[in-house]
Amino acid sequence: MDKLYIFNYTLEELAKSLKEHFPAFRAKQIYHWLYVHYESHFENMVNLPKDLREFLAQNYTSTSTALLKKEESKDGSIKYLFKTYDNHSYESVLIRMKEDKFTLCLSSQIGCKVGCSFCLTAKGGFVRNLEAGEMVYQVFAIKKDQNIPPNKAINIVYMGMGEPLDNLENTAKCIRILSELDGLNISPRRQTLSTSGIAPKIKKLGTLNLGIQLAISLHAVDDDLRTELMPINKAYNIQSIIQEISNFPLDSRKRIMFEYLIIDSLNDDLKSAKKLVALLNKIKAKVNLIYFNPHQGSPYKRPSKEKVEAFREYLLQKGLLCTIRESKGLDISAACGQLREKVQEQIEVKV
Ligand code: SAH
Ligand code: SF4
Repeated sequence: MDKLYIFNYTLEELAKSLKEHFPAFRAKQIYHWLYVHYESHFENMVNLPKDLREFLAQNYTSTSTALLKKEESKDGSIKYLFKTYDNHSYESVLIRMKEDKFTLCLSSQIGCKVGCSFCLTAKGGFVRNLEAGEMVYQVFAIKKDQNIPPNKAINIVYMGMGEPLDNLENTAKCIRILSELDGLNISPRRQTLSTSGIAPKIKKLGTLNLGIQLAISLHAVDDDLRTELMPINKAYNIQSIIQEISNFPLDSRKRIMFEYLIIDSLNDDLKSAKKLVALLNKIKAKVNLIYFNPHQGSPYKRPSKEKVEAFREYLLQKGLLCTIRESKGLDISAACGQLREKVQEQIEVKV
């Protein structure tokens, strides 16, 4: 029998699965070891009775995912690469923000089906969904590696490899596991799910009432250009996304974030900025402008700083909240999929 992956379990599920043999409070103790002490070896969970430790070792595993490699950027962000039980790899980035704050960028799939023309993850095609536990493991391993105190608030963004709404069930479970009070205790309000805009899944996400923040990768203000950049726009165009967003349940203090990847001479003009203002007119929105990060073989170019700043100025003048996302970790290729591409070959040779 294959063993069960311990990181796949919500606290309630873990208690249930131990129920016939052990009382429910034992599940809390295991959660504490994993997510407060960052201890994943059952034999080291010393306040558990011996028979429970043996039961865990026989039925569960905590080692199906492993940290394979990390690369630190000059700006302090760190890119992590993980290896799965079936010899694939996926990555996360730990971004150090101002005032010693951390944001962790998680992957939700190995590869991606959506096929955006600017994105390196898309080039490798789609391999498979990540399990909830494989997503949770990214947080476990990075907090452990960096010795981040368990009670330190960190932010999570689902902006690594993959389309989280194409793996909604596991992503929702990951959000729940991360927010367990007896575990990592990361409030859903600190978790932002970024999507390319699969309209019916946005609706489904809304009905789950997870309390998370939502980011939409918009990138273009007219359907022709958006379809060129993101073929999914053929199925769910800009208006259909705006429609779904208007109905999305949101914490009253929060806004929907719209990500706008700026590509040189394609969508960096003030006419686009003007259209963007009109499009988001009735929505509690915040825009995040992102510099396109060039990669080998890509036909697109990074925009000039002047253009990006002028774009932002225009939005601000019109009363639209707007930030520019600095390209963290440029020297370690921290944009989607770039580290993975470099080392996938090595893994294939090794195993
Ligand atoms: N699939 C989801 C989440 C993962 S992509 C989505 O598309 O929203 C997360 C972000 O990385 C997206 O906003 C995407 O536009 C951005 N991204 C992808 N390739 C990039 C590149 N070459 N340079 C800068 N940002 C990029
Ligand atoms: Fe997938 Fe997001 Fe990359 Fe598009 S930008 S291919 S949706 S990961």
